[in-house]
Amino acid sequence: MLERRQVLIDGEWVASAGQGVLEVENPVTEEVFATVPQGHVDDVDRAARAAANAFDGWSHSPLAERAEVLNRLADAIEVRADDITRAIVQEIGEPESIAKGHQVLPAVAHLRNTADALAGIEWDVQVGDTQVHRAAAGVVGAITPWNVPLLMIVMKAGAAIAAGCTTVLKGTEVAPLSSFHFAEAALEAGVPKGVFNLVSGNGPTIGEALVTHPAIDMVSLTGSVRAGRRIMELASGSVKRVALELGGKSANVVLEDADLPRAVVMGVEDAFRNSGQVCGGLTRLLVPRSRLAEVEEIAAARAAEYVLGDPFDPKTTLGPVVTWAQQDRIRGLIRSGVDQGARLVIGGPEQPDGLEKGYFVKPTVFTGRPGDRIAQEEIFGPVLTIVPFDTEDEAVAIANDSSYGLAGAVWSADKEHARKVALRLRTGRIRLNGSPINQRAPHGGFKLSGIGRENGRFGIEEFLEYQAIG
Ligand code: NAD
Repeated sequence: MLERRQVLIDGEWVASAGQGVLEVENPVTEEVFATVPQGHVDDVDRAARAAANAFDGWSHSPLAERAEVLNRLADAIEVRADDITRAIVQEIGEPESIAKGHQVLPAVAHLRNTADALAGIEWDVQVGDTQVHRAAAGVVGAITPWNVPLLMIVMKAGAAIAAGCTTVLKGTEVAPLSSFHFAEAALEAGVPKGVFNLVSGNGPTIGEALVTHPAIDMVSLTGSVRAGRRIMELASGSVKRVALELGGKSANVVLEDADLPRAVVMGVEDAFRNSGQVCGGLTRLLVPRSRLAEVEEIAAARAAEYVLGDPFDPKTTLGPVVTWAQQDRIRGLIRSGVDQGARLVIGGPEQPDGLEKGYFVKPTVFTGRPGDRIAQEEIFGPVLTIVPFDTEDEAVAIANDSSYGLAGAVWSADKEHARKVALRLRTGRIRLNGSPINQRAPHGGFKLSGIGRENGRFGIEEFLEYQAIG
């Protein structure tokens, strides 16, 4: 059993004031394999005060020093990449062969991008006789989720450090080990004391204590809409700035003239990444009704190829979902699809054959209507809903018929036409013809998907205020 007993406050590993522990469960074996401290509000208080004390110095530090710290942090994480990958595989079950490239190496690249992006920010502009200056927003309370646990920390803490903010992180209680690896790397990289602090604990106690602490100026959450709403409500008490990266139900629009087999295969792969536990996953596949039979055949064939099982086995291509509660919720949503009359193309709510243990879900593809629950709710499991359309206008209307607006995609033989359609979508990031995700471009959403942007210079700017001087 791995036991973490300390939290990081003011550059030192110290005992938590809390007596309890949070158990970390392996979703494949269903056994607890690690514990971390269930922090105490006193830990939050000490950490927030340490971050506040460090703010004046760090917010006025030279940009070159911040870039060096971020690059050293990237190096320190890269050195630990295999250990962190193994920890994440144990915590969330993503296949090891995929997890390093999906979970850890992008975090390293992200820190280096953030260091580079510092040079692209207009820190001072003259407006008439007035100097308009970008200043660090203050002490940041960062709260992160379990699905990509290290990268989500890096996207906040990295950008906040770059901006000159100081941070108290409360990482996810479901997959907390990478927050400890990150904290160790931060110490090794020479992040000055108080600039980054880590307190572990759950949302309702430690998360809320952080959000309401008077020394915290800004809260940045990546997580569910439920947590986002609660945090906005609590932050309103002292009018703290809030950045929210929440859920999604993103549409993948395949137009009549698209390379259909490629679009459908990549669409299935995108929707099933990390067992479907990706905020920007393309979980609605919008296709011309005339091609529906072909689409269903291709999607079913690709879904059938997934090999479920032990994530440390190199043959495994799809792991479990993270907890029993998630598995139960996803199965309930699959049942709702059947009950609402959607066509089950492949998969279903049962435990996959040959896997008695573990929170596995069969890769599932439906054809449904735009209003079905499976076409509206974020499922966060390996479930894809195909929705047919008759005209391009209808495709745009269906894509926008969502309470979310995080990501999307458009496929067409005419890329300029795809771009025009993309401009009609009310969503944050839209990929064209399977283009890769650009980590320097902004990530974030419209509507219930949240407020604010992360990545590159846009992510740093999220942690900056304007000052008008003169
Ligand atoms: P969650 O909301 O349950 O938890 C996220 C974090 O918020 C955790 O650290 C949790 O402890 C904390 N939290 C929960 N309630 C809180 C409260 N009342 N006060 C303060 N903190 C609180 O989400 P999750 O299950 O960990 O993650 C899955 C969700 O995250 C999905 O909805 C997914 O779409 C979203 N997500 C979004 C992005 C994005 O960039 N937009 C990225 C990854 C995940």
